[in-house]
Amino acid sequence: MPTPVVVVHGGVRVSAPRREDPAADEEAVNKLRWIAQSAYRAMEAGGSALDAVELAVRLMEDDPRFNAGYGSALNLLGEVEVDASIMDGYRMRAGAVGGVKGVRHAVSLARAIMERTPHVLLVGEGARDFARKLGLGGNEDLVYETRVEYRRRMLEALKSGRGPERLKSLLDLLPLYGVADTVGAVAVDSEGRLAAATSTGGLTLKLPGRVGDSAIIGAGTYASRAAACSGTGIGEAAMLVLGAYRVVKEVEEGKSPQEAVEDVLLEIHKTTGYAFGFISVGADGGIGVAQTGYGLFWAASGGGWVDGGVKKERPKGLLVT
Ligand code: ASP
Repeated sequence: MPTPVVVVHGGVRVSAPRREDPAADEEAVNKLRWIAQSAYRAMEAGGSALDAVELAVRLMEDDPRFNAGYGSALNLLGEVEVDASIMDGYRMRAGAVGGVKGVRHAVSLARAIMERTPHVLLVGEGARDFARKLGLGGNEDLVYETRVEYRRRMLEALKSGRGPERLKSLLDLLPLYGVADTVGAVAVDSEGRLAAATSTGGLTLKLPGRVGDSAIIGAGTYASRAAACSGTGIGEAAMLVLGAYRVVKEVEEGKSPQEAVEDVLLEIHKTTGYAFGFISVGADGGIGVAQTGYGLFWAASGGGWVDGGVKKERPKGLLVT
C-alpha cells in the first residue's frame, strides 16, 4: 500500500536577500508545515492527491506573504495577472490558466478547466469569463499593499539607472523582497495516485501578458503514474528545458525524486544560468526538494510526521560563475 505524502513549496529566492529575517522565514515555514499537514489530513479523510494539492495551493493563495492569489506580484502596470496549473498524473489530464485577472484561487480555475472543458490552457479574458460563469471569481481585488511598495522600489531602481536596461537582466533584479514567492504542491495518496499544482502572480514588473512556467504543463508542473513535480524560479528557464516534465521522466527511468530534481536543476543552471527550485514526490512516497538559489521554502507531511525548512544547500556539481 503506497504511503501518502504531501510536499509544498512557497517559492525560491533567486537572488540573495538584502537582509536576512530569520523570524519571518520561520513563520513562513511554520505556515507551510501547517498547510502540508492540512492537505495530508484531507487525504486521510478520503480526499485524493488531486484534492490535497488543490487545497494546499488554495491555502497559500490566501496568504499574502506568498506570491499567488491575494498578494501576487505586480506587473509593469501595477496589475495582478496570475498563472496556475494542476495535473492529475493517474488520469493523465491537466488544466491551466495564464495571465488572468481578478481570480484569487487560480488553481481551482485550472482544475475546472481540466474537469469541465476539453482544453488544457485558457488565458486572459477568456479564462476570466470562464471563472465568472462558474462563480470562481473574476473581479477579486488581489493587490496587497506590500507588493505595491516592492514594485515602487524596483521601478525607482530602474529609473535611477541602478537597474538593468534589458529584460533578461531585469529578471536578475528580482531580489524577491518578500519572504517567499510562487507556491506549489505535489502529493501521492493511499491508492498511489499522484498530482501536482502550482500558482503564481509571476515576476514583479513582468510585461503585461507575460505567462510563465507555472501555467505551462511540463515546465512548472507535471505528474504521471510515477512522480509529480512543481517548480519555482525564473519561469523562462523551466520553459526552455521543460523542467517539471524532465524531473518526472527521470523518476520513470529509475532515479529517486531527490536525484531527479537535482539533475534537472543542474541542467537548468548549465543551460540558462538561472537559479530554480523543485519539489517532487514518487509513487512510493519518496520525496525530492532542491534548489540552486538562495533558499527554497518547503514543507512535507506524511503519516505522523511533518518536516520543512528553508533549503539553502545546492546540489553538488553546481558551477556558480
Ligand atoms: N516561476 C514563476 C514565474 O516565472 C515565478 C516564481 O517561481 O517565483 O512566473
